[in-house]
Amino acid sequence: MNKTNIENSICCEALAKKTYAIALDGPSGAGKSTVAKLVAKKLGITYLDTGALYRALGLVCLNNGVDVKDGAAVEQCIKDVNVNISYRDGVQSVTTDGMDVSSMIRTPEVSMAASAVSAIPYVRQKLLGLQRGIAENSSVILDGRDIGTVVLPNAKFKFFLTASAEVRARRRYDELIAKGQTVVYEDVYSDVVTRDKNDSSRAVAPLKCADDATEIHSDNMTAEEVAEFIYAAVDEGLL
Ligand code: C5P
Repeated sequence: MNKTNIENSICCEALAKKTYAIALDGPSGAGKSTVAKLVAKKLGITYLDTGALYRALGLVCLNNGVDVKDGAAVEQCIKDVNVNISYRDGVQSVTTDGMDVSSMIRTPEVSMAASAVSAIPYVRQKLLGLQRGIAENSSVILDGRDIGTVVLPNAKFKFFLTASAEVRARRRYDELIAKGQTVVYEDVYSDVVTRDKNDSSRAVAPLKCADDATEIHSDNMTAEEVAEFIYAAVDEGLL
């Protein structure tokens, strides 16, 4: 290989390794996961649904009859649990001690348990390395509550997606009904409001818009429109 070829090949390798992260935070039911999936597909990058990790640990506590608000009991219950993420055909699965729990973590009970355990510092600390590790090795879009503020404060792109509580509850309700679950809109609305309150008022890594994030109000936007907005911003920022 002559010098120019060597230089070219080093340059290509560096470019190929150049990864970036998109932080997508916001309250429950804002449509983050639908949007993140669309953006990930369009950009050909990895999508990490971080809520699934808190849900998985919430489920472990519920299955073991642990009071999800009792920090010491939760810590004792999950300290040796191995939480992991894997991908097949781009679809994320979450496992606890090797068991795939992806289909068990979407119930309203698990949502509330996830919200409660996520306020416990030990739980957040346990999941931090896993999230950062995934973002370190590839270009990613992570959705959550504290991605732009705590998990990846240096993320190249940050967005905060929100909508009114009514619109978010309606979207969550439609999603649960489509999955065949029996739910009442008023209960879904009250869960959304309670989770907003828990998530924004907790002492550690509360839900909030990072100072350098772009806020998107999606009451009058479809998921496709939000995804297009993010895609366009990222595309321009990568030039
Ligand atoms: O996003 P999702 O609704 O699946 O998250 C479930 C719960 O997990 C949230 O209500 C929140 O309490 C918690 N969570 C969090 N930080 C994240 C993601 C989720 O505290 N990054």
